[in-house]
Amino acid sequence: MSRVFHRSLRQSYPTAVAGEGPYIIDSDGRRYLDACGGAAVSCLGHSATEVIEAVQQQVQQLAYAHSSFFTTEPMEQLAEFLIDRAPEGLESVYFVSGGSEAVEAALKLARQYFTEIGQPQRRHLIARRQSYHGNTLGALATGGNLWRRAQFEPLLTGVSHVSPCYAYRERLTGESDDDFSTRLAKELEDEILRLGADEVMAFVAEPVVGATLGAVPPVAGYFRKVREVCDRYGVLLILDEVMCGMGRTGTLFAVEQEGISPDITTIAKGLGAGYQPIGATLVSGKIYRAIEEGSGFFQHGHTYIGHATACAAALAVQRTIEEKQLLARVRELGAGLEARLRERFGAHPHIGDIRGRGLFLGLELVRDRDTRVAFDPALKLHAVIKKAAMANGLMCYPMGGTIDGQRGDHILLAPPFILEEFHLDEVVDKLDTAIGSALKTVCGGN
Ligand code: PMP
Repeated sequence: MSRVFHRSLRQSYPTAVAGEGPYIIDSDGRRYLDACGGAAVSCLGHSATEVIEAVQQQVQQLAYAHSSFFTTEPMEQLAEFLIDRAPEGLESVYFVSGGSEAVEAALKLARQYFTEIGQPQRRHLIARRQSYHGNTLGALATGGNLWRRAQFEPLLTGVSHVSPCYAYRERLTGESDDDFSTRLAKELEDEILRLGADEVMAFVAEPVVGATLGAVPPVAGYFRKVREVCDRYGVLLILDEVMCGMGRTGTLFAVEQEGISPDITTIAKGLGAGYQPIGATLVSGKIYRAIEEGSGFFQHGHTYIGHATACAAALAVQRTIEEKQLLARVRELGAGLEARLRERFGAHPHIGDIRGRGLFLGLELVRDRDTRVAFDPALKLHAVIKKAAMANGLMCYPMGGTIDGQRGDHILLAPPFILEEFHLDEVVDKLDTAIGSALKTVCGGN
């Protein structure tokens, strides 16, 4: 038995001891190119001096002060920084320690908003199939990943799921972006009407799907139509940018590319870039004022809300991204990586789709390119790829999503924004080797 209750109880893990730019180094001196930022976290790599110094300075000055007694300068400054750059209408920030906590706060804020304004009957949530919103029970109930939900189903209630905007598998033959997004918006509207137009609280979606499908962007116009449907029935729109936010897709918030604003947005991962655990829930002025004028108190809270050192780290991360103009670099590097992936894998017999935005790119593996049939989930191809990549000094994030209730295999790439061009070649070469060796292991290369 291991003293640490690791993710897998059947596997041993190398010991990470150091970080150097985009590389993690283990206790045997092996170097791993971090092509996924862990889970789209480490956007500045593993040795950003600006952030390390900000953390050291804050720990020395004041590591932590409980939020029911004090506010702190780093928390106030980080909120100011984010709201100055947030989509229109988002006016206040609630700080937590990670993505699931940010989603929980979003759900409870939505619920409290409606009780404060005298609509307590609004209690249903609608989310999308093949989505992930976190592992705490409320966030897990919201997500539509069947595999992650299965064992906990009896505890996951109050949420229904509609189709995701997943063009590779959900778009009908010959359907245009406009027809596809209109059909999906209609499905959302029908679900609102089925549940009772004045009983739905919120619709929750990831602007670019991450942890379930490996970087699936929406088709043009989808979120505008979704926003219209939500507005028609007074339903709040919650956008979960925990993975795709904070510059990952080439704009600070992924929704900036959709031309709409949500009522609530969650962020985490790239916010603190792994230097400290931190997440946040950004809230519209409408929701803030309803609670301010109502009970004046959000019925929620965690011990580490607005942790001073975490906020100082996040502020340093975000200032560094801005000062070094790294969002432009994300767009440039992202285009370079996507082009290389298309060149290398565009005609690969087992890669059905290459997609994404900025430095948030996904590959979908299929047994047959023409029929798009997935590999047998029992083969656990994604896990075999991960192992082969690690053996070859590459971190990528393979995952089993759910296709028609079954698991499918995807690879997510979400490397740090500080890569050089030559790293892109290293990513693609190592990935190619890992995929080749994994396919050989699971199906003898056929
Ligand atoms: N929402 C999304 C969109 C995510 O991708 C994740 C994590 N993969 C979460 C929420 C949960 O975040 P955390 O693991 O930090 O709790």
